[in-house]
Amino acid sequence: AKALPRVTYSNIGADFAPLHDWLDEALPGFRKSMLGQAWPNVMAGRHDVSGRAYEVRCPFERDLVVARLVSADRKAVAAAVRAGRDAFPVWSGMGWKTRVKILRKWAKEIERRKYELGMAALYEVGKSRLEAVGEAEEAIHLVNWYCDEMERSKGFSQPMQRAHVDEETTCLLKPVGVFAVISPFNFPVALACNMLGAALVAGNTAVFKPSPQSGLTSALLMETVEAAGIPSGVINLINGSEAGPLLVDAEGVDGVAFTGTHQTGMRIYRKLASSAYARPVICEMGGKNPAYVTATADLDMAVEGLIRSAFGLQGEKCSSCSVVYVDETVKEDLLGRLKAQAQAIIVGNPEDRRTFMGPLIDEAAVERYQKVAKAARLKGRIIHGGERLPGPLFNKGHFVAPMVVAELPPDHWINKDELILPVLSVVAVGSLAEGVALGNRNVYGLCAGLYSGSPKEIETFLGLAEAGVLYVNRRTGATTGAWPGEQTFCGWKGSGIDGKGGFGPFTIPRYMREQSLTIM
Ligand code: GLU
Repeated sequence: AKALPRVTYSNIGADFAPLHDWLDEALPGFRKSMLGQAWPNVMAGRHDVSGRAYEVRCPFERDLVVARLVSADRKAVAAAVRAGRDAFPVWSGMGWKTRVKILRKWAKEIERRKYELGMAALYEVGKSRLEAVGEAEEAIHLVNWYCDEMERSKGFSQPMQRAHVDEETTCLLKPVGVFAVISPFNFPVALACNMLGAALVAGNTAVFKPSPQSGLTSALLMETVEAAGIPSGVINLINGSEAGPLLVDAEGVDGVAFTGTHQTGMRIYRKLASSAYARPVICEMGGKNPAYVTATADLDMAVEGLIRSAFGLQGEKCSSCSVVYVDETVKEDLLGRLKAQAQAIIVGNPEDRRTFMGPLIDEAAVERYQKVAKAARLKGRIIHGGERLPGPLFNKGHFVAPMVVAELPPDHWINKDELILPVLSVVAVGSLAEGVALGNRNVYGLCAGLYSGSPKEIETFLGLAEAGVLYVNRRTGATTGAWPGEQTFCGWKGSGIDGKGGFGPFTIPRYMREQSLTIM
């Protein structure tokens, strides 16, 4: 498997045929041998299978059990936090250079098993092949990126000015303690590694609570942790939907890193603000990502980038593009092209190499999609999609068509709320400034994209867009596809807590606290 082409989200033109051929062979074997097994919670290296059992089902074949897990109860959560506390002196005390060495081994171990991790994401999240393998690749880059950052920053320690010849002061960042790491279903490998990588390289230990919908990837990731020689107790794994709230409330948690919905993130933030003293809360909370298409845009490029960002991973990325503000003079042209491209999208079983869009994650998502379609029909015009897909190919899973909507009033909830669905709404505007003002109006501020051939318009967009991640004329994705080391991923307003994010030079310090040491 070594010679197979690497997948990133933006090398879409590469020749993936050898990878597809390999996956054609590998997927049936993985399906047969890896799916349906029982996996434990892990505390201090101890495998614990007590607790209420539940199953993860495959979103394109509901009868298929992907993994059997146990829900951590209050006692199990407390044991996991205790394990993190016990491991903290050893892990934080071993020094950043040793930690970097061990974490690079972890990255190698993820690399060794990246196709398994990708295949697990394919079966439990319904990711297309390239999205699935791409995120395992991203996870490797993330862990290595944080190791590089730690080296570049020399462990975040620097000498200060001397007040007296015999006084020496150092300012340094130290780890905080035990971090609760709560990750979402949509990037079960990459986003877990994003938070765990930064927390661990800083010297913290972690209690990792993945989404209950992605238990297999997390179980496999835990195997890579063990195989890499990360000391037991440094990452503890607890599963189940009850485990999240229990963990946030648990005594002994020194900080929380969360990626997920705005509502849950804000709930965690408020909850921690009401405790005896403030602890770090790092939240990455989704978006309502607009794109702007002006009269000077290359429409071919715009349509390609919009389609990728709106419908890649079924629109279930927090970076997905969901509203496009288009200059009214090119609106009909854009709509015609979007319709043709949306019709050409292959929706299907992700085991198939041709599939671009897989199933939605669950039945609740299908219901939300149907609610959007109903509201869009009432107040706007559906250009494409709006239906659950019927027929033998689709009736075992949560399949819907990509939806393009036009003529909704700009302040309709479909244009303002995060949907996490394959829905793209097209809103005509008189000018770029008018569009950006509308796009800025909602509570989120994660990603925004512009298609324009005018330097003046580009300057306007870069100056006015209220979002952390801006893209101009990006064919490979209007608002999606951030890659560690190439972009940072920093939510403003309701998309983040402090306008800083993951993948970047300012990430690790968020997991640390400062200390000033003066020695006479
Ligand atoms: N990093 C991904 C991207 O830029 C999105 C991650 C997410 O959805 O949380 O498309």
